[in-house]
Amino acid sequence: MKIEIINTGSELLLGTTLNTHGAWMGTELMGLGLRVQRQTTVPDGDAIIAALTEALERSDVVIVTGGIGPTSDDICREAAAAVLGVDLIYDEAALRSLEAFFASRGRPMAESNRKQALNPVGADILPNPNGTAPGIYAPPRMSGDRLCALFLLPGPPSEMKPMFREEVTPRLRSLAGVESDHTLQILRFTGIGESDFHEGLDVELSTIDDLEVGYCARPAEVDLRLIGNAESVSKAAVMAQTAFAHQCFSTCDESLEQVVVRILTEQNKKLSLAESCTGGRIASRVTDVSGSSAVFTHGFVTYANEAKVEMIGVDADLIDTHGAVSEEVALAMAEGALKKSGADISASVTGIAGPTGGTEDKPVGTVWIGIATPTKSYAIHRCHNRGREIFKQVVSQTALDLIRKELLSDQT
Ligand code: AMP
Ligand code: MG
Repeated sequence: MKIEIINTGSELLLGTTLNTHGAWMGTELMGLGLRVQRQTTVPDGDAIIAALTEALERSDVVIVTGGIGPTSDDICREAAAAVLGVDLIYDEAALRSLEAFFASRGRPMAESNRKQALNPVGADILPNPNGTAPGIYAPPRMSGDRLCALFLLPGPPSEMKPMFREEVTPRLRSLAGVESDHTLQILRFTGIGESDFHEGLDVELSTIDDLEVGYCARPAEVDLRLIGNAESVSKAAVMAQTAFAHQCFSTCDESLEQVVVRILTEQNKKLSLAESCTGGRIASRVTDVSGSSAVFTHGFVTYANEAKVEMIGVDADLIDTHGAVSEEVALAMAEGALKKSGADISASVTGIAGPTGGTEDKPVGTVWIGIATPTKSYAIHRCHNRGREIFKQVVSQTALDLIRKELLSDQT
């Protein structure tokens, strides 16, 4: 089934709004075993009509986002009616639901909002419980020499996403029929680069029939994307896990922080952190995960030396003797955080993010990462001189992976 997305909105091309809809829908659709064939971004105005005309002639499903609000630049309803060659008529139920929306907020409904109840003849209204713009679904009809269905969805992500899941997904499922037999599995790795795959695993995977293999690299993380029939995908996943058993942290598209929180939950353990150079990024990533409150106790951001001493009891002499960026201080930070928090495992980071502050024996990018549990503590040394942003991300990744490995090694 050929699915095409048209994202409308001048702000997407001006660069003031990041176009996130295409990526989000691509992932959602892959979850259904469906693929996006093409994504087009067009500004508000006549370009929408041209894009719609072309898309309807070459695709089975066209999904348009944005441009169904009440303002003068929201012209997608009119454009859709024109391209489908039908009139727009007021949908009584949509009109009542708009009036109810404004009444429930104690606000009068502006005349311009009425046009949001306009519906191309023959199309269905898709309810929008999160905003004023109802969506539109025009079931498959002949366009050129093929049948094509059309969806119009609101621009704000908080309205588009629930409508996609509630209204679009079930319709796509029935339109796709037997075609959605392809599975997607994403395995995630850290501690290895893309090139490590190409040398060994890639060749092995190429021997599996009906399998599409893709990679996506981010700082300190590589996704392996497997698409194919269920049997091929599961065979490939086992191969990849076997080849990189220590580096594979998820076989189901979880983030590293999600994995860490999941393992802590399973083991009924608590985590605390002492961060210097990452400024709280590890704590932020951990607390991005729903349910982290049950397993995360303290995040000490001890940036200044005094903070390391006062907040987590690092010996000031230790800092004077070895420097704040040292194995000794990383260990003392992890041990201090463990003691202060009463957690079961603590991690610490202390390093030089740069671009200033490096010395000959401690160049920019130097970092020590410590782990402490009630029975042991250790620290590892790394150097990542790739700018502050990447440094913080990579260091947080390494620390989370050390926590993960420590938890798994302690599973007896
Ligand atoms: P609209 O429905 O065209 O009035 O869009 C309303 C708002 O939705 C815009 O101002 C953007 O903030 C947001 N928006 C629209 N399209 C996108 C998109 N493709 N990705 C992310 N946000 C979007
Ligand atoms: Mg708009």
